[in-house]
Amino acid sequence: MSNYKIETKCVQGGYTPGNGEPRQVPIIQSTTFHYDSSEDMAKLFDLEASGYFYSRLQNPTCDTVAAKICEMEGGSAAMLTSSGQAANFYAIFNIATCGDHVISSSTIYGGTFNLFAVTMKKMGVEFTFLSPDCTEEELMAAFKPNTKAVFGETIANPALTVLDIEKFAKAAHAHGVPLIIDNTFATPVNCRPFEWGADIVTHSTTKYMDGHGGAVGGCIVDSGKFDWMANKEKFPGLCTPDDSYHGIVYAEKFGMGGAFITKATAQLMRDFGSTPAPQSAFLLNLGLESLHVRMERHCANALAVAKFLKSHEKVSWVTYADLEGDKYYELAKKYMPNGTCGVVSFGVKGGRAAAEKFMKHLKIAAIETHVADARTCCLHPASATHRQMNDEELLAAGVSGDLVRYSCGIENAEDLIADLAQALEQV
Ligand SMILES: *Cc1c(COP(=O)(O)O)cnc(C)c1O
Repeated sequence: MSNYKIETKCVQGGYTPGNGEPRQVPIIQSTTFHYDSSEDMAKLFDLEASGYFYSRLQNPTCDTVAAKICEMEGGSAAMLTSSGQAANFYAIFNIATCGDHVISSSTIYGGTFNLFAVTMKKMGVEFTFLSPDCTEEELMAAFKPNTKAVFGETIANPALTVLDIEKFAKAAHAHGVPLIIDNTFATPVNCRPFEWGADIVTHSTTKYMDGHGGAVGGCIVDSGKFDWMANKEKFPGLCTPDDSYHGIVYAEKFGMGGAFITKATAQLMRDFGSTPAPQSAFLLNLGLESLHVRMERHCANALAVAKFLKSHEKVSWVTYADLEGDKYYELAKKYMPNGTCGVVSFGVKGGRAAAEKFMKHLKIAAIETHVADARTCCLHPASATHRQMNDEELLAAGVSGDLVRYSCGIENAEDLIADLAQALEQV
């Protein structure tokens, strides 16, 4: 499968049925699995053999769908999680624990910001937030002896900044730590961060991958290219014996390609249990089968909408990286030559009150916290997803009070534009 193009991987990846087996991915709705002897089972518990024993840790349906996303990203191993939040938490906590430090782009999803700045801080992990536009010198200066990872979003939700992945990867690698990229908005159809030096990729599959608002989920993919043992003093969790598995050293036993995901499964999934339902994995796979077709339409609609808004007298500003003249146009063309995503941000003249009034009059676009869905939806982040932030934090996150996040679905672009036009009339 690895030689096929992304479109073929979306449809066929992860699952090749044998003779007489179901053509569609089977839903293995079973918490537990049968074994003939206790010895067989013991080997699984000791990570001496691979196989299924309890669906909190691993389930065949979930693994099949994870394998598809792994192929789409060009990784070595992957796991599904019950949400994007769980994916980002596991990806960081797998290598950074109490007393450690992580560098993150400041323009990230509000939920992730809260996870890092509040909840993980309580767990003793310290974060430094840097503008994605920082200079190489500023980035280099942020590293500390206890820095364990660098984190950013390909296209930030909702600020729509585009991360210079190569710049961040170079700085991370110069300090012997991996770059973790949340690739939710671009999807592997439009950007594959491993090709630009990222080491770990995360997803909220809830968004474009599912695409139909059907199931919350997440995914972590390992590139298999980060050499943990070459930086073993920084990563004791991967490079020294795990007492809870009779002294296994993950980086030795599973190598660069398998260590990260095996540890995240064996320790974090075992202890925290953010496991997806097999039924949800099945729904996610249905979404993945058409992801490449949908992304094309999302991007085409968004570009048409962005051009319309840009020329409208009641709109003060528009951010969409595929729009010529956008601050991130050049970076977008480099990392995502086929298009970025379907989300457009803009400001309505008259600020917060005008934005709220405008949104009330939209007929096609529903007001939802959801985003990146087949159906067009919109949100005023300052009063919803980002309402825990103070003004200073909002500014750093790239979210102004008048910002409307408009997520283009896969409807007809002329209908979307007519709906926007009539709602702007009312302001
Ligand atoms: C939605 C989102 C998340 C969180 O994912 P959930 O599936 O809602 O838990 C993380 N990162 C980004 C970029 C998101 O858009």
